[in-house]
Amino acid sequence: MNDCIFCKIAAGQIPSDRVYEDEQVVVFRDIYPKAPVHLLMIPREHVDSLETVSATHEALLAHMLRTLPVVAHRAGLEGGFRTIINTGRGGGQEVFHLHMHLLGGGTLPGF
Ligand code: AMP
Repeated sequence: MNDCIFCKIAAGQIPSDRVYEDEQVVVFRDIYPKAPVHLLMIPREHVDSLETVSATHEALLAHMLRTLPVVAHRAGLEGGFRTIINTGRGGGQEVFHLHMHLLGGGTLPGF
């Protein structure tokens, strides 16, 4: 956890282009954007992935989901947005600190 890059971003030890923060989450621009707007929402608390959340995280997860549309609207994504949570190596997760991708702007490719 001490080597977790997203913990360091949340703590302000590594610079990021922060667009939103509150007592539970930080949102910043993805360094390699896959869409005109590509943000990452992370909890301040370290959680490895969606596979390691427990009942104690229910309020946090609800807060993250409820905050995503607020952040999307602030980012100008009035027409909608895509949310992705990569989970585990098989799911394409590269950074093992739970994060929600928020993508939008322009036309997103289909799955
Ligand atoms: P995932 O594959 O779901 O684990 O996604 C990790 C994301 O973190 C990727 O889209 C990376 O581009 C992004 N990322 C990694 N390091 C940084 C960083 N220092 N600042 C912003 N985004 C980052």
